Amino acid sequence: MSKVLVIGAGGVGSVAVHKMAMNTDIFSDITLASRTLAKCDAIAASVRERTGVTISTAQIDADDVAATTALIKQVAPTLVVNLALPYQDLAIMDACLAAGVHYMDTANYEPRDEAHFEYSWQWAYQERFEKAGLMALLGSGFDPGVTSVFATYLKKHYLDRIDTLDILDCNGGDHGQHFATNFNPEINIREVTAPARHFENGEWVTTPALSTKQAFDFEQVGPKNMYLMYHEELESLARHLPEIKRIRFWMTFGDAYLKHLEVLQNVGMTRIDPVIYNGQEIIPLQFLKAVLPEPSTLGATTKGKTNIGDIATGIAKDGSEKTFYIYNICDHEDAFAETGNQAVSYTTGVPAMIGAAMILTGQWSGAGVFNMEQMDPDPYMDMLNKHGLPWQVKELPGPLAF
Ligand code: NDP
Repeated sequence: MSKVLVIGAGGVGSVAVHKMAMNTDIFSDITLASRTLAKCDAIAASVRERTGVTISTAQIDADDVAATTALIKQVAPTLVVNLALPYQDLAIMDACLAAGVHYMDTANYEPRDEAHFEYSWQWAYQERFEKAGLMALLGSGFDPGVTSVFATYLKKHYLDRIDTLDILDCNGGDHGQHFATNFNPEINIREVTAPARHFENGEWVTTPALSTKQAFDFEQVGPKNMYLMYHEELESLARHLPEIKRIRFWMTFGDAYLKHLEVLQNVGMTRIDPVIYNGQEIIPLQFLKAVLPEPSTLGATTKGKTNIGDIATGIAKDGSEKTFYIYNICDHEDAFAETGNQAVSYTTGVPAMIGAAMILTGQWSGAGVFNMEQMDPDPYMDMLNKHGLPWQVKELPGPLAF
């Protein structure tokens, strides 16, 4: 029985609070705060209608550490779940330290003026959280999040040593729009247009954005082209599972999405440096976000499934080399029927609820800053099965041919 404060009323925040309200034995008191109070109130109304549970709401600008600290002290939660944007991570961590509460998020810190993310900024809080006896759990979404838990689950139960790990993220959903992103467009486009990086034999290898393409046949979705990308869990997995010789991240994109993105890039609409328009400074990518569909509005029309998982090759418990594929398939329409949000928000919001449950129930604990792969995967994997993201493991005939 614990109090939780969720910050961020987007698609992910919406799913997370709906799922928390379905588990009041763990989340006995829920407050949702965000920049726009009306969005919190709309989610609270949906939660009440779908679950009968009343949650509290509040307005907050989470870039303001003093105001956020005051809100945390007023609400007095055990845990703050940060589902705003990566830009707010450090400010909310500072507020948690000032107010003396645990912290959790789903995406690592990224400065606004540089399309670059890495854990160093948040790992630098290790000593402060440790000294305060508080836990900061980083990246409890699907990727990062579940994909790291999948890796540690395979290592615990199937492979004594993982040699290669490939994370495959496929969204086979169709929202019927010419161009839209499934989560925050600004964050999504910054991520996709960044150079690709993977870890191989102790080194980071950088290649141009979207330059390595591979076809893959995803169960219940079908064949798709996926592209090598950099993703934040590669950094923490390379640190915490240093025996892995190669870690790669792949994401599927349709040709129409890539064509639109190429044009937007060519005409300068994805720039993140300010330009003067009508005497006023604007950031082209932020303006683009304003004219693109809100990801939270895509749910009603999105059909199809996501299929996200890990393929790991290594030395099995019997001493032989084996390859295992562990994955979840999530249906966009089912996700929408349950929470009013499409599967990309669902596959992030459910793990956010589960990460929060791990901390509130004490099944995961510790003082300091932690990534997902440092925790026991078993209780988390149990909750995935019970709360809408069932997974399966299958043995593949051999390592990936690419
Ligand atoms: P949205 O853009 O839909 O929602 C973000 C919310 O945060 C909005 O309600 C926004 O308010 C609010 N917000 C923004 N800035 C502030 C601020 N300064 N103070 C208070 N609230 C603020 O994003 P999503 O819900 O799609 O994503 C949420 C997070 O989840 C992001 O960090 C994203 O990177 C992460 N994510 C992680 C994934 C994973 O698998 N690990 C996958 C997908 C997303 P307003 O409505 O006023 O703009």
